[in-house]
Amino acid sequence: MSKISEKLKAKIRRQAKNRCGYCLLPQSLNPSLLEIEHLHATANGGTDEEENLWLACRLCNGYKNIQSEAVDYKTNQKVLIFNPRTQDWNEHFEWKNEKIVGKTPCGRATVKAVKLNNEIILPVRRKWISAGWFPPND
Ligand SMILES: [Zn+2]
Repeated sequence: MSKISEKLKAKIRRQAKNRCGYCLLPQSLNPSLLEIEHLHATANGGTDEEENLWLACRLCNGYKNIQSEAVDYKTNQKVLIFNPRTQDWNEHFEWKNEKIVGKTPCGRATVKAVKLNNEIILPVRRKWISAGWFPPND
């Protein structure tokens, strides 16, 4: 059972700008509540402390699961999955139309491991982009 207080959950939401740390999906475009996720999975010894928590959409949280490392297909290097709390999204990823493209070993490994361009989200993002709602410009 999670012991994360409502107060801490609200703080994490503010810190994460109320959007998914991986695909940047904002709560305002998501009909289900963004989830408090463990950067380092509790199954692998991660804690419920603030520094181990961030916000993720259901898809990213589900695909990430307990992974903390993944392989960059370009360098064949095993790297840590992107940490949205301590790393800068724009340094590791960029948008190419509706797709998220990794710019670094960490970015490329995360795109693949967390399935940031999964078949469920791509057609949705395409519509948001044509409506001018996405991607965020920060
Ligand atoms: Zn997401």
